[in-house]
Amino acid sequence: FRSKPADAAEAVELGAEGVGLFRTEFLFLSATQAPTVEEQTKAYTELLQAFPGKKVVVRALDAGADKPLSFLNDAHEDNPALGLRGLRALRASEDILREQLTALANADTATEADLWVMAPMVSTVEETDYFVTLAKEYGIKTAGVMVEVPSAALMADRVLEIADFASIGTNDLTQYTMAADRLLGSVASYQDPWHPAVLRLIKAACDGGAPKDRPVGVCGEAAADPALAVVLVGLGVKSLSMTARALPDVDAVLKTV
Ligand code: PEP
Ligand code: MG
Repeated sequence: FRSKPADAAEAVELGAEGVGLFRTEFLFLSATQAPTVEEQTKAYTELLQAFPGKKVVVRALDAGADKPLSFLNDAHEDNPALGLRGLRALRASEDILREQLTALANADTATEADLWVMAPMVSTVEETDYFVTLAKEYGIKTAGVMVEVPSAALMADRVLEIADFASIGTNDLTQYTMAADRLLGSVASYQDPWHPAVLRLIKAACDGGAPKDRPVGVCGEAAADPALAVVLVGLGVKSLSMTARALPDVDAVLKTV
């Protein structure tokens, strides 16, 4: 489950154990101004209320490239996928990040779900430290990062000394590993999460979490491919996040191995 709060009931019916990726930017794609703390508190409370006692992983606003948010970055960039996006954009508008963390902490206090919060597009150990420290300042108990950039996968042992968990975004990790725009049809054949280079980075991320027993999950489209899901679990991935419709098939195949 990873879309609108209203989809929660359907996800639970299909067997979801919680939410692996709630993309908060989808709530605000048409907004021209940053959402208020009140608006966000309401939306996150509605989401968390649907999953009492269950894990809900919420991602801080992921602006840029395929998900433009004008209130976070409306500068022209020749290569937006390599630009001020994800955590980089949040950091440049830290007040917006602080407001989002405030709203998430409010919603957490008002509900019974197990809230995990993560930052998108993290490239360095230093960025990990920045985000986790800030999230804890607001009382977020479980703070982690997405592994979507090869540098984060290769440094996962250091990243996961600081972060409570990591979630691998295989869509972007594949794009950045293969250096091929994930939305460009002419290079679509490179967008292959089965490529051994991508799988090696996934293994590096999982191995990096092992010494401190930090969970590493996958929340990219790859998790919804039943055959690949088996490979991911074999590589050490601890949780898989997918669209609710994919749950029954992946579940059935995993139960055979
Ligand atoms: C990913 O990159 O794999 C991911 C889960 O994030 P998004 O698809 O929203 O970029
Ligand atoms: Mg991504």
